[in-house]
Order: sequence, then C-alpha cells, then structure tokens
Amino acid sequence: MRLHPIDVRPRPWVPHSGWPIALTDLDEHYAAAERWLGVTGRGYGAERWQEHPDLAPIAWDSTRLLHDFTEYVPKPMLGRVHRPALVHNPLVQVILNATVGAVLTEDGRTTGVVVYGPDRRRVEIRAGNVVLAAGAIENARLLQLSDPAAIGLGDGRQHTGRFLQDHPIIRTAEVIADDFRLLQDRYVALHRGKRRLFPKVRLAPEVQQERGLLDATAVFVHDHSEPGLAAARRVLTAARARRMTERPVADVLTALRAPVPVLRDGYRRFVFGRSTAARPSAVWLQVWLEQTPDPDSRISLSAQTDRLGMARAQVDWRVGDREIETSREMTRWIAADLQRLGLARVRELPAMHDDDAWRAGVTDAFHPSGTTRMSHSPDTGVVDPALQIHGVHGLHVVGGSVFPTGGYANPTLTIVALALRLADRLAVTAPPGRDPGGTVQPGGDGFSR
Ligand SMILES: Cc1cc2nc3c(=O)[nH]c(=O)nc-3n(C[C@H](O)[C@H](O)[C@H](O)COP(=O)(O)OP(=O)(O)OC[C@H]3O[C@@H](n4cnc5c(N)ncnc54)[C@H](O)[C@@H]3O)c2cc1C
Repeated sequence: MRLHPIDVRPRPWVPHSGWPIALTDLDEHYAAAERWLGVTGRGYGAERWQEHPDLAPIAWDSTRLLHDFTEYVPKPMLGRVHRPALVHNPLVQVILNATVGAVLTEDGRTTGVVVYGPDRRRVEIRAGNVVLAAGAIENARLLQLSDPAAIGLGDGRQHTGRFLQDHPIIRTAEVIADDFRLLQDRYVALHRGKRRLFPKVRLAPEVQQERGLLDATAVFVHDHSEPGLAAARRVLTAARARRMTERPVADVLTALRAPVPVLRDGYRRFVFGRSTAARPSAVWLQVWLEQTPDPDSRISLSAQTDRLGMARAQVDWRVGDREIETSREMTRWIAADLQRLGLARVRELPAMHDDDAWRAGVTDAFHPSGTTRMSHSPDTGVVDPALQIHGVHGLHVVGGSVFPTGGYANPTLTIVALALRLADRLAVTAPPGRDPGGTVQPGGDGFSR
C-alpha cells in the first residue's frame, strides 16, 4: 500500500516529522512500482469494497475510522519474477556471494566499494556511482563501517543509524461477537482470482491532528484451532511459494482427515473468494502503529564481529508513549463502534491500562526504517531528496532507511517507488556504461554471477 499524505507532512505534534518531498512527487513512481510488483494500483481505501459487492462495509464512524486495504503481490518471489530481465540485460552484471564491507570515498565523492567473496578474498569494485540498498540496518552499518570514526559518511553523518523506526504491533483487546461471520467474512483475506486483499481499519487524519496521534491501522486476528484447516492452509501457502511445508506428509494427512471443513473452505475460497466458515477460537484486535522518530532509537556498531571480522550492528529500538496512546485511543473507538452497531463486545487486554504489559507485548513488523533519513539539509538528515548522501557525490542510499517517518503502510511499495525514481535520475545523470569510474573489476573468482 502507499503512504498517506499526512504521513509525509510536517506535523507539529510529531517531532522530526516531514519529508523533504511531497507524496505527489512519487505518484508516477508509485504507479511504476505497482506495475513492477504486479499489484492493481486500484487504491487502498473504501473503494476496494466494490470488488466484493456481496459484503456491505461496516459503518465505522468516519470522523475517526476509515476503511483500509493491503493488496498482496501475486508473485512474491520477486527474484524469480525479475531474474530473466537481469540475466538478459547486457548492461547489468549481477555478482552473487559478494559481501560489501565498506564504501570507498575520496575528496567528497565515492570511488567504489570493498567486497569480500565467500573465501574472504578482498576485492575493490571501482564506480563513480554507488547505490546502497542493503536494508535499513545494513545501510547504516555499512556507512558506519566506512568511517574510521564509526559515525557515518557525508555532511549529515551524525544522524546515521539514528531515528530507527519500525511498525510496533500490539494486541489490545479480544473481540467477542454473537455472529462471528459478520467480522470474519469482512476482516480475513478476500480473494479474486490471484488477487488477495486484506481489509483493515485506519485512523482518520483529522482525528490524528485533533488528538495529537500517530497514523495507525487495526486488524482483526482470527485464531482457528481446527488442525485439518490449519494443515491445509500451510500446504496451500507453501505451494504458492513453490516450496514444501516443514512436515509435508503429516500436513497432507491431517488435512485429509478433516475432509468436510477443508472441502467447504476450499469451495468458499476458490468460488466466492471468501475466507473460512469455521468458528474462530478467538478474535483479537491488533494495532499496527507509526512511530515518532527518536534520535536515541538507533543502530550502532557492536563490539562483536562477524565472520569477516567486521563489527556487527547493535540495535537499540525504542518505542515512545505516543505509540501507546495511539493504540489505546484507536481501540476504544473501534470498541465503541462495534458496540454501537451491535456487532461485538470488546474485552480490553492489560496493555490497555498497564504500560509495562504494553511494552512486554509489543513486537516489531520486520519493517526497519529511518536510519539514513532524507532531508533538505545535512543538519537534519543523511541523504538529500535525490537520495544522495549530503556532501558525497555519487553515493546514494535507497530503502526504508531514507524514510524520515514511516506511516503505518507496509514499506516495500514505497521502497520500490523510491528505487525506480532514483534509477530514472541515474539513467540521465550517469547513463550505464558511461560512469567515469565505472569499471567493474571483481578480479579473481569465488564470486558467482
Ligand atoms: C517475514 C517478513 C515479512 C514481511 N512482509 C512484508 C509485507 O507483507 N509487505 C511489505 O511491504 N514488507 C514486508 N516486509 C518488509 C520487507 O521485506 C522489507 O521492507 C523490504 O524487503 C526492504 O527492502 P530493501 O530492498 O530495502 O532491503 P532487503 O529486502 O533487506 O534487501 C537488502 C539486500 O541486500 C543484501 N545485503 C545486505 N547487506 C549486504 C552486504 N553487506 N553486502 C551485500 N549484500 C548485502 C541482503 O542480502 C538483501 O538481499 C516483510 C519482512 C519480513 C522479514
């Protein structure tokens, strides 16, 4: 899904908020990213209910709560999907089993990278343009490893590794419905052919502003204890990813031992695109949150080293009080609407009243971001709006690490949009094959291509 306009605006109630680019600057690249990932680009809001006209959307109080959808990529193994294009492009050389250890710089410009092969052979790859795209933890670590003082590179190096964010996830309540189908039919994945949508509820921007809250979304997690259905689901998920489950024979036998629910659910899934008809053993309200950027939440270099003798990353991820408050406010509003509409009662969990319980229950979403934040000035960030490190010509960073704030949206679509935008720029400013320092000399082997 895309970020929302409020996610990139400076918000007085969210310290360090505000991207140096508008979301509209990304429109064209978001559309290209949607094509590249194979999602429809039909939006991520209430309009998507039209694809399931047999399901009347729940009438949330729209001054506080809005409809929201995640659309899943139909073929998530992107390496497999895009491999032929890479193999057949004469301008591209992919070198595998090559671990970047540092970025080389000289007189305010990059000159390449240091790479280690599986046999620990050290090789320098010379290039006038380098794009770090190693993930939000590793992007920061590589910049820190490249600096003898272990701070980072460029004029905004002091921000490197700082402002680490993720999407805190917390269960705040149990939802108890008389007719479980009303929520389950609407808030478990909906299918249309290969398209899979996941409906959610989000906080309206107006109420974020009015109450000083962060952006957030909530899902209804349905637990099912029928072992046959769970096994069938594991087999289906594994088949979709073209792999085996951990215990394939046992899973298939378990699924076959529950033919009625498995066949009924298979029929619902493939004919009507609906989720299971089985009664859930429990339903939980789970909130996914944006974070307040915090300079003390950070990646730094650890005293421990990896197999190459380089310092590992040390992660100090912090979650603030605004995140706690946002999850509680949102839970109360969803509970009030469920009650008002006669859909369900809500039993609040200890996380609603006890900060320690909240902090014990929160998890991350594997969505690290913020560690090489984008800014107009090196006083407030590491990379400029063109994703070039402030003050280091030719050295670029792409990934969630450049997000100044992360909204609550799953990050990949925005990461791909930013990558395509950077690729468009580099195609003009540094056309492939004409990079002044751009000779790739991986030297001796040990690498695979
Ligand atoms: C279990 C799980 C589920 C997820 N689900 C979703 C989801 O549903 N939707 C969503 O939007 N996001 C999801 N994410 C997050 C998503 O995977 C990341 O946000 C995204 O992959 C980040 O893209 P990236 O290209 O910046 O980094 P990565 O995808 O992490 O790619 C970085 C690459 O760089 C390589 N690399 C790292 N260090 C070095 C080095 N020193 N030298 C050479 N190569 C290096 C890595 O091997 C890797 O291939 C999920 C993540 C996980 C773990």
